[in-house]
Formats: sequence, C-alpha cells, structure tokens
Amino acid sequence: MSIIDYTPSEAVAGSKRFIEICNACRYCETYCAVFPAMTLQRSFSDYDMDYFANLCHNCKGCFQACQFAPPHEFGINLPKAFADVRNESYARYAWPAFAGSVFEKNGMILSLATMLIIALTVITTILIRSPTILFTAQIGEGAFYRIIPWDVLTLLSGASFIFSGCAIVISLSRFWRATQTHLSGRLTLKALMRALHDIATLRYLGNGGHGCNDLDDSFASYRRNFHHLVMYGFILCFAATSVATIYDHVLGLIAPYPLLSLPVILGTLGGIGLTIGCAGLIWIKIVTDPLPVSRKLMGGEYAFIALLLIIALTGLGLLMARATSAMGILFAIHLGAVLAFFLMMPYSKFVHGFYRGLALIKAAIERDRNNPLGE
Ligand code: SF4
Ligand code: SF4
Repeated sequence: MSIIDYTPSEAVAGSKRFIEICNACRYCETYCAVFPAMTLQRSFSDYDMDYFANLCHNCKGCFQACQFAPPHEFGINLPKAFADVRNESYARYAWPAFAGSVFEKNGMILSLATMLIIALTVITTILIRSPTILFTAQIGEGAFYRIIPWDVLTLLSGASFIFSGCAIVISLSRFWRATQTHLSGRLTLKALMRALHDIATLRYLGNGGHGCNDLDDSFASYRRNFHHLVMYGFILCFAATSVATIYDHVLGLIAPYPLLSLPVILGTLGGIGLTIGCAGLIWIKIVTDPLPVSRKLMGGEYAFIALLLIIALTGLGLLMARATSAMGILFAIHLGAVLAFFLMMPYSKFVHGFYRGLALIKAAIERDRNNPLGE
C-alpha cells in the first residue's frame, strides 16, 4: 500500500496501456533504461508509471521507431505520455500538496509573478530607506551590501533555500516509498555507483552515442549538449556562491571580488554555460516535431528555463555593470529571480534530476537482483 492514494489520470492510464503493449513487443529493448526495467515486471501498478516516466529522458527514439505510433490505431506515443505523467508526478508527491498542483497548472505565471513581486518589494524597500542609493554607483568593499544589507540577503536566501530543501526531501521520500511496490533487492555500493555514473554522464541521454531524435527523426545531440551546459553551469554557479560564502564568513573577504578571483571565475563560466544551455533548450522546444511532445508541459518547463536564463543574464549583467548606477536595479532583479527559482524549485522541472536519479537507483537495484552475476 502506497503512501499517496490517487485516481489515475488519463496520462497514467494511457501510459499503462502503452507499456503493456511494449512489454509484449520489446522492439525498443536497448533504447533506454525504461525497457529493461519494464521487462523485469509482468504486471504494472499506477505507481510504476511514475517510476518509468522518470526513467524516460524523452529522447523520442521509441516514438520514431514504433510501428504502432499514430496514425496506427494503438497510437503508441511513450514520450508524450511519460512527459505528462512525469509532470503529474512532481505535483503528486509535492509538499505542500497544494503548491504542487497550483504550479502544475500555472507554472510560468507563478514563477514570473513571484520574481516580479520579490524584485519590486526589494526595490520599493530600498527606495523608502534611501531614495538615492539605488541609482548611485557603488564601488569598493561592501558595495552590494550598501544596496541590500547583508542580514536581509542572508535571511531571504537562507529561508527560501531551507524551505526548498525540506520540500524537495519530503517529495523525494514520498516518491521513493510510493514506487517501491516491486522492489525487493537491497541498495548495494555497486548499484549506487552505477546509478551515479549514469546520472553524471547523462548516459541514456544520447542513445548509446548516436544522439536523440531532438528535432525530428534524425539523430542529434543538441539536447544532450545543452542539457550538460545547464547542469554543469548550475553546479558552477552554486560553487561560486559557496566559495563566496566561505570568503565572506571564514576569510573575512567582502564582495565584490576581483575579476580573476575564484568566485567570479566560477560564476562567469557557470553563467555563460547556463545562458547558452537555456537558450538552446528553448530553441529546441520551439522547433521540435510537436507530435511526441506534451504541450501541457510547455508552461512549467519554459518557466524553469526562463528563470534560469534570467538568473544567468542578470548575474552576468551585474558583473559587467557592478561599478555603474545600473547595479542596484540589476541586483534587485537578480535577487528576485534567484529567490523565485529557489521557491519554485520543488515544483518545477528542476526536481526531475532528483526523481530521475532515484528512478535510476531503483533500476540499478532491480537489475542487480535479477542478474547478480552482472551484465
Ligand atoms: S514503442 Fe512501439 S516498437 Fe517500441 S517496444 Fe513499444 S510497441 Fe514496440
Ligand atoms: S522516449 Fe526515449 S527514453 Fe523515453 S521511453 Fe522512449 S526510448 Fe526511452
């Protein structure tokens, strides 16, 4: 018995029907992690659809190869069905539950509205406190903190980060428990290492090296490359913030830092990676073949990428204009985007990395249990 009871949606019921046909057909057995995982089971629960949907990385290979894809009467379209189920799963296991369902329906509006409200609140507060400081160039040690005091920054970012962290951990633990219906193996170091390797190298996002059907039925690696840029760009930006925190709190070195300092180098490389990666992913979404794509997702997915892009652009803009009078406004917008991103993190596409990671760990455990001597 799972911890989350729900009435299966059209997408869950549809993907279960597809999976039952695929499990008899098995033509796509080598395409990705979904098919080997599916063949280890004879019957499927609704929760298994959440597991398979999060194993799917949306390469669209099975759609292009399928002899039962539309216009065939079976209408098999796993990428589209799984995309819907994935999105529903983020809302299904979200904490608090109402936030998940609100984001599922209005992700884009909610994200941009949150960013604007935070930025405008910060700007208004600064103007009330000191009408001129926002439009006056600030230079030298502590320049940022003259615009927004250090304790306000720490409180806002700390509170939103802690809230997001707790919400993500709770939803992941719900997802993990709900999808354990068939799991009887134990987590071994070998299974964990294999799953971590698959996550770090985006192993299945590229179909064994010849790419995905990103735009149409030809193989390409656009999505994989842009995805890498977003993932490692984000990690570099996070590293830049962490190093800056150590500089500030441990070494007593107050921002802004020189262009060749570690936090600025990490942040610049991360910002460039994020900008190119996000712009590339948006381009793919616009020009891709719409048939295997879930249009329902576009709002929430665009919201996630749009927020990341705004963070990257305002961060880079802040670096270039930090000694000018534009710094105050840019800083407020950047802070608004960062805080909105933190607050939306548990409900947006951001969590797919964690859900997918857990699904890959479960797949590795099941594979070991069924094949203890190795592949
Ligand atoms: S997607 Fe189509 S070809 Fe692939 S396993 Fe399923 S039914 Fe067979
Ligand atoms: S779209 Fe790609 S990853 Fe998803 S089930 Fe089909 S082959 Fe697997």
